[in-house]
Amino acid sequence: MVDPKDIDFYSLGFNFIETKTMFMATHKNGKWNEGELMPFGNFEISPASCVINYGQGIFEGMKALKGKNGEITLFRPKENAKRFNFSARRMLMPEYDVDKFVDTVKRVVKENEEYIPPYDSGGALYIRPILFGYGPILGVHSAEEFKLIIFTVPVGPYFPEGFKGINLEISKKYTRAAPGGTGSAKTICNYAGTMLPAKESKARGFAQILYLDAIHMEYIEEVGAANFFAMINGKLATPRKSGTILEGITRESILELASKKLGIEIEERDMSYKELYDESCTEVFCAGTAAVITPIASVTLEGKERIFNNREPGEITNKVYKLLTGIQRLDIEDEFGWIIKV
Ligand SMILES: *Cc1c(COP(=O)(O)O)cnc(C)c1O
Repeated sequence: MVDPKDIDFYSLGFNFIETKTMFMATHKNGKWNEGELMPFGNFEISPASCVINYGQGIFEGMKALKGKNGEITLFRPKENAKRFNFSARRMLMPEYDVDKFVDTVKRVVKENEEYIPPYDSGGALYIRPILFGYGPILGVHSAEEFKLIIFTVPVGPYFPEGFKGINLEISKKYTRAAPGGTGSAKTICNYAGTMLPAKESKARGFAQILYLDAIHMEYIEEVGAANFFAMINGKLATPRKSGTILEGITRESILELASKKLGIEIEERDMSYKELYDESCTEVFCAGTAAVITPIASVTLEGKERIFNNREPGEITNKVYKLLTGIQRLDIEDEFGWIIKV
């Protein structure tokens, strides 16, 4: 582990840093053991394990934040627990009790309390629960033994240089998920395939790819690992839950905030990338636990660029950002019951 005294919490990025404690539980002979907190570290795994050979694995991403008065909070952790089980079912792995999941996350956060960045740094303690087929197999079928691990990493604010828009590239070459596949599960298999497209896009100067649907190569799906939103004709539109997008908890929260707190009409629907090139589309942003709310300055397809709002974050983007982060950091009253104290 890294001594927390040696960490500059004011210059953190999104990089791995070893913290003190992790949790590990094993599922064997049809049931979970109690599991235990242990020092973060390596463990042994069979070269024939299902996760290494066939990618039977899932993950979650959550954040523990420190409020102004030092209180430690989680944002809707039960939703992560439920999605973890949804992903586990899709990948033929055992579920974990929802309350136990939340309780265990709290224990791991408490153990690593010294690694939570201070309120004024804007950082967070990123929480990474994983579940994978640990047991050895040869044919393509599920493992019989599984491991659940929860570890944490301190991360910096997503916008160290302030709230700025990113430039996206619309891809007509690569897709992320197809109907009937695993796009709506947070499974590790969905991410390895996005590394090459992301690298190519970055080399052309873009921050990320905006993925389209795999059948028509027309309807917007999502941005790397964040959900997509656009203000079109004064309504906040986002791709509908088609089975090929990851159903973000941030996405759900933004829809609720926009309709209940900002009085904006929301639409979950098929959205053609062509709509982004029309004047009726006034601002766009993407959202997720890691990205929080990231304004999108421009989108480009085959050299054709559409710039939004002179590359400045739009009015609604700003409002939603202030509301969401205000609630998460205890600066705005949480009337939705989203905040759980650790
Ligand atoms: C995790 C993730 C999101 C965002 O989900 P949140 O629950 O808001 O963090 C969006 N898209 C993909 C592909 C993801 O993996």
